[in-house]
Amino acid sequence: MTHPSDTPCFRTMDINDFLKRSVVNFWAADTVCHMLDEAGFTRLHATDSWDIRPGEGYYITQNDSAVFAFVTADTVAGVVPFRIISAHSDSPCFRVKPNAEILSDGRMMKLNTEVYGGPILSTWFDRPLSLAGRVVVRGKDALHPYIRLVKFDLPLMTIPSLAIHYNRQVNDGYAISRQKDMLPIVGRLPENEKPEGWLTRLVAAELGLRIEDILDYDLSVYDTTGPETVGAYDDFITCGRLDDLSMVHAAVTSLINAVNQKRNADFTRVVAIFDNEETGSGTKQGAGSPILDYVLRRINASMKQSEENYMRSIADSFMISADNAHGVHPNYVEKQDPTNHPVLGKGPVIKINANCKYMTDAVSAAIFASICHEAGVPVQYFVNHSDTAGGSTLGNILTSQIPLRGVDMGAAIWAMHSARETASIADHNYVISAFTHFFSRLDNSSSKTL
Ligand code: ZN
Repeated sequence: MTHPSDTPCFRTMDINDFLKRSVVNFWAADTVCHMLDEAGFTRLHATDSWDIRPGEGYYITQNDSAVFAFVTADTVAGVVPFRIISAHSDSPCFRVKPNAEILSDGRMMKLNTEVYGGPILSTWFDRPLSLAGRVVVRGKDALHPYIRLVKFDLPLMTIPSLAIHYNRQVNDGYAISRQKDMLPIVGRLPENEKPEGWLTRLVAAELGLRIEDILDYDLSVYDTTGPETVGAYDDFITCGRLDDLSMVHAAVTSLINAVNQKRNADFTRVVAIFDNEETGSGTKQGAGSPILDYVLRRINASMKQSEENYMRSIADSFMISADNAHGVHPNYVEKQDPTNHPVLGKGPVIKINANCKYMTDAVSAAIFASICHEAGVPVQYFVNHSDTAGGSTLGNILTSQIPLRGVDMGAAIWAMHSARETASIADHNYVISAFTHFFSRLDNSSSKTL
């Protein structure tokens, strides 16, 4: 059995550095692009004609928040299946509303925000918080503005709890108002400064731009506390956004690993990082859009292959939909299914649902388990306790666009959608080993699995 740490890693970024840089969806996409640039991938643009060659790495972005990276097969004629790993760049957080500045007593200023996705709201209280996102800058004409990313590294704000003396029920469970309780406070505004346009002035100063050139922005609140290793045996990593950035990191690292092994492949390897999974994937950069189908079709067209060959290739393709799973919580063992208890540190988790919230079926579960077995990686299974509805993910939404075979899986984590989630470091290495093997399976004897 190969130990996960024996998996060769080349010029890839460490998970801690990846998480520190990827504070919101736009920065996660930017960090992925940075890793791909470092590994020698070529950036493509949707508006250009693509001239892609066999055996080389490329990527394209969508909305600055989704990334599709691929390494073309060495053989381009006939049926060239795709091996795809998908994950998502977004995490539950707070988005800044327009005209966000609100002045309170003593010129104390707070920002008006809206909840994005389904965070555990209470975990955002009393943390050092800051802002990051995308800024729209005046361009050559109204239809073609420039995009700049912005990230304030220093804590700019906090959401203070109400003192227990004003809320005696605080430890007994109480309703949290998203509009009243969750607005971050940025500090006392000086007497000579107006609240109107404060945020635009801050962004302009940070980017060295004129205020009048800033047309709009998508800014989100993030916790400035970085990743930490936790546990008496250094077992765990704790950080915001592990769902799903740990899978994004594993997928991109594995693609770069596979490419660096410089072995021929008769299939095209694809990493698809979607945005907006946490709000139902219904955007042009989400898994509910035709974007992945477009990218795969364009690869096929650029290789001068027929539509029939594309259909044949899809029929022989396989996707790993990678989104984290619930590990059994030692304080709430009864919440888990009676016979399936995914444990942190015991390997990637195959996610199964009788009502097809996941794309996994017996065939795709067996294929993924075989891949893990060949890579020396243990696997576990997750199904909901039958009295619990559970969540959804990318896989089944994607299959409404492309009839791909595939499996839903993820690493087991605790506190999903908390401002700080906890995962196992061993599991992360296991996942990278399994993904790298999926992208590296080459000889005929082993490819029988697929
Ligand atoms: Zn997720």
